[in-house]
Amino acid sequence: MATNPCLECGACCAFYRASFYWAEADDATPDGVPTELTEKLNDFFLAMKGSTGSKPRCVALMGIIGKSVHCQIYQRRSSACREFEASWKDGQTNPRCDKARIAWGLPPLEPGAWPNPGNFPKAA
Ligand code: SF4
Ligand code: SF4
Repeated sequence: MATNPCLECGACCAFYRASFYWAEADDATPDGVPTELTEKLNDFFLAMKGSTGSKPRCVALMGIIGKSVHCQIYQRRSSACREFEASWKDGQTNPRCDKARIAWGLPPLEPGAWPNPGNFPKAA
């Protein structure tokens, strides 16, 4: 397994809606989330395009889920994405991480999954 198991996963980016406060987008915050990759949810929140339907997959997710993935806007991803913790990255499970992996036919991460903790947290 890679030093960052999220780079061989990506399940959460294709399972949950990635929504966040509108002011995180780059039309309000320099170097924020690229506005053209978002859609308006309501007066307060945006979501990543692709993440709002019945079969979500964020448009910024590149690669093949469960094989090799990366976030095209990693440095500019929203707080929702930054705050989503992979299981065992900080010593505890995240049931939402486990649920997304299971939905994609991947086993939940195990405690030894992070020999060199990295980050690729995703959405809420
Ligand atoms: S981490 Fe990147 S690919 Fe995943 S939901 Fe957030 S913006 Fe999309
Ligand atoms: S946080 Fe969990 S579901 Fe998301 S990419 Fe990492 S291991 Fe996969």
